[in-house]
Amino acid sequence: MTTLQERLRAVQTRMAQACAQAGRAPAAVQLLAVSKLQPAQAVREALAQGQSAFGENYVQEALDKMAALADLRPAVEWHLIGPLQSNKTRAVAEAFDWVHSVDRLKIAQRLSDQRPTHLPALNICLQVNISGEASKSGLLPAEVAEIAPAVAALPRLRLRGLMAIPEALHGLEAQRAPHRALRLLQDDLNRQGLALDTLSMGMSDDLEAAIAEGSTLVRVGTAVFGPRAAPMAGV
Ligand SMILES: *Cc1c(COP(=O)(O)O)cnc(C)c1O
Repeated sequence: MTTLQERLRAVQTRMAQACAQAGRAPAAVQLLAVSKLQPAQAVREALAQGQSAFGENYVQEALDKMAALADLRPAVEWHLIGPLQSNKTRAVAEAFDWVHSVDRLKIAQRLSDQRPTHLPALNICLQVNISGEASKSGLLPAEVAEIAPAVAALPRLRLRGLMAIPEALHGLEAQRAPHRALRLLQDDLNRQGLALDTLSMGMSDDLEAAIAEGSTLVRVGTAVFGPRAAPMAGV
């Protein structure tokens, strides 16, 4: 039986090895523990092991978990990484520290309008459909340069970078290609004057490829927490 502590250590070791391989400082890559469909108690245990940033996909599940863990605030940082509908933006603007899944200007405008003034600006990544899959959400690469400056100009948001969920590929070299494409897109935006510092890419199965290509934040669920429950119908 593998414990959460052992799994967390194993992921940290994989990250450190990938950084060493790429000649990058270990501190250059942050671990976001994806706690979707995991109980609040698992977050509590991970926090006790020193893990403080958590990613959630489903707004209502996340709000319930935050309520159950309210005593841990402000030690915990919450990131929304799942799709966001406009009727949920207010709850998200009030409760989260980061949103990685912004793929429309209208959603960004609502988040900025609804971000409470007593909180710091909401950290944002634009989600890019980097592999061009019809089934995936996200901006097409060609749309990103148009929308990014408008999002960056919104007063209550801080545009931090890009996020992608590349198609599942096998082998390090194959996996590196879409991650490289996301990094090159981010480099372009930075040359145009946006100061983006976050590349949100890499999951349980491809974090080495993502780190080799410049990821600054890997979103890891299964490898940290073990298998998760099936998503509920309708979410
Ligand atoms: C579920 C999820 C992850 C984590 O996936 P694992 O394969 O369990 O590591 C990362 N990013 C997003 C957007 C997800 O939905």
